[in-house]
Amino acid sequence: MATVARRRGWEVSTATRPDSFQDLISAAPPDAILLDLQLGASDGIEQLRFLHTRNYRGNIVLMSGFDARVLASAQEIGDSLGLTIAAVIEKPARIARIEGVLLAIEQAPAKPQAATMPEPAGPRAILPHDIDEAIAAGNMALQLQPIVNAGGTVERAEALIRWWDPMRGPVLPDAFVSVAETDGAVMDRLTMWVAETAAQHYRRLAELGEPVQICINISGCNLRDADFPDHMAALRERMSVPWGGIGLEITESVAMHDLDATASVLARLRLKGFAVALDDFGTGHSSLTTLRRMPFSTIKIDKSFVRDLLTSNDSLTIVRSVIQLAHDMRLSSVAEGVENAEVAHRLIELGIGALQGYYFSKPLPFDAFATWLQENRAATSLGLARAAGEAHPQACPPD
Ligand code: C2E
Ligand code: MG
Ligand code: MG
Repeated sequence: MATVARRRGWEVSTATRPDSFQDLISAAPPDAILLDLQLGASDGIEQLRFLHTRNYRGNIVLMSGFDARVLASAQEIGDSLGLTIAAVIEKPARIARIEGVLLAIEQAPAKPQAATMPEPAGPRAILPHDIDEAIAAGNMALQLQPIVNAGGTVERAEALIRWWDPMRGPVLPDAFVSVAETDGAVMDRLTMWVAETAAQHYRRLAELGEPVQICINISGCNLRDADFPDHMAALRERMSVPWGGIGLEITESVAMHDLDATASVLARLRLKGFAVALDDFGTGHSSLTTLRRMPFSTIKIDKSFVRDLLTSNDSLTIVRSVIQLAHDMRLSSVAEGVENAEVAHRLIELGIGALQGYYFSKPLPFDAFATWLQENRAATSLGLARAAGEAHPQACPPD
């Protein structure tokens, strides 16, 4: 069952079937939806997807008699679809709880609600060729995000690509890197552009007296090319960047299906002085087999675990175990998605090697990053002094 509610005295309508629910929503977007995860023959997740396709901007209260894990994962799906999940309520629910949630929604500032909810009509789908054109037109840029050691020093930064398209506006990497991956040659050109731009940034920072390692993201596709380590080493030499000036991050993917070939490319990269991090550890395809077979130097713990560290025992257990795993395998560890001081301090207490996230800085254009570096050299200014003193030192090999 789903109940939709409009403000001004909460005019309430109820739907017990998916089709009547969707009709109700399409007729006029309500201010709030109490969505039971079991909606007749359908399920609440399908309805969340429907609300996403209709660009629903109101509040959603998820309800279920299933265990808390089901509700938590439905909430995560809603969040990742960009919906506003105002609350989750386990059933059986007391009326007072529902009233409390509705009151909180009522008192929150109203968000602009689309008068109608048109079918999303985006611009033409992105093709691999568009990515080549964007590079040639100078519409791609790298932003830099600091990676802060547990002791408070900054020796690394991650380079994240940004595309400003004149027709589409800003296009996020999640929307186009997978398109580049459909055409190996385009992905190779994109990665080499990223590597060259990162090398320029390294050089400019070194000239300013701030030589931080720039870590670039590479795709599993790049590792299919047995000569990739040679191209990277030649580029580093041509750009006069020293060993260690550029690091690599890779998310395990289906493109790494040939483990032997991938392991040999990664080993050659390490031998040529590139630190290689396993990105987004704990999600997607990342597996312990990969960790055992591939010569990574660093594990980056995915932000989904870091975000919930203080509220989810499961996430805390996973993060603690991954830090211990990294320690035992003599790998360095980085937690990404650190958004506040409490999470930073907890991670340091757990023995993390380094931290990255909005708490320190969002990804920044080059000039803003250089200024940030100059202003944040001291651990105290990064708010880590207390926790750094309490940290359990982690034995890590240098990258
Ligand atoms: P990633 O490598 O795991 O990068 C971290 C992502 O988390 C970035 O998203 C960053 O902006 C975001 N982030 C950093 N700190 C926080 C935080 O505190 N909270 C939250 N919620 N997010 C945070 P972005 O820039 O949208 O990049 C998404 C993904 O796209 C990257 O994930 C990476 O896999 C890929 N990507 C980015 N740039 C490149 C690139 O140049 N080449 C390739 N092949 N992939 C790239
Ligand atoms: Mg990364
Ligand atoms: Mg990541």
